[in-house]
Amino acid sequence: MSQIDDLPPLREVVEQHGLMAQKALGQNFLFDLNLTGKIARAAGPLEGETVVEIGPGPGGLTRALLANGAARVIAVERDRRCLPALAEIAAHYPGRLDVVDGDALAVDLSVHLKGEPARIVANLPYNIGTPLLVGWLSLEPWPPWWRSLTLMFQREVAERIVATPEQRADYGRLAVLANWRCETRILFDVPKTAFVPQPKITSSIVQLVPRAEPEPCEQRLLERVTLAAFGQRRKMLRQSLKAVTPDPQLLIEAAGLDPTARAEEIPVSGFVRLANALAAQR
Ligand code: SAM
Repeated sequence: MSQIDDLPPLREVVEQHGLMAQKALGQNFLFDLNLTGKIARAAGPLEGETVVEIGPGPGGLTRALLANGAARVIAVERDRRCLPALAEIAAHYPGRLDVVDGDALAVDLSVHLKGEPARIVANLPYNIGTPLLVGWLSLEPWPPWWRSLTLMFQREVAERIVATPEQRADYGRLAVLANWRCETRILFDVPKTAFVPQPKITSSIVQLVPRAEPEPCEQRLLERVTLAAFGQRRKMLRQSLKAVTPDPQLLIEAAGLDPTARAEEIPVSGFVRLANALAAQR
């Protein structure tokens, strides 16, 4: 695909606005229109949808989201050098692109959404990807305002998000939190050659869709038990859970689990039972 809109090619945009990638901002840009189109289609159907994009940069993915029919894109960008390029896209798609000049970790998106549901789509800056994801997974009430997350992560982080006890090395707190509240899957890999500049490793697009009714439990307590259990992942639960209760044996039995099991053997439902047993002890 050579053209999705009448805007100049991305390489020209980057040159014209002097957007040399900055490592500190996690800038690895996508110029391949086939790839940005594929990500936009994987996130959709986008017709009539509001999309939140984190880190639009020079706007390659933003343009694909708009060309694929997103009714409105709210794009949060911290690098002010990108704002003129994004203003050109906004002018090309009148009334459909709102650029928020700020730090995605600090911006209150609900102010911009005014109660509308949205899909979140992003080629995330690698250094804030996990904290952003944990923030989106921790929203209350649940289900949240976002209808899906379609996100680029480094392959190893993607594997930690979708892991089950079968993938022991990757299975941890992030997988428990993500899979408790969402259906998660890796959609496809993106080779490092797709980015400018090239990162050192392969990336993957991950999709998370909120479960309408996750097993009931207090997220705060789920965090406590997973922190303790995976904090000492080689130890048996009867040892590692001493950090949350003076009598781990009682807690583990109340949850119907084996006290000699290790964190990486316990499925999400087991951690939910542990969190609920902890709540019952109070
Ligand atoms: N979406 C563009 C693309 O696919 O070519 C750029 C993706 S690049 C991996 C990450 C983008 O996130 C950069 O434009 C960077 O300036 C921006 N960014 C970094 N930290 C940010 C933050 N805290 N809040 C908002 N944007 C941020």
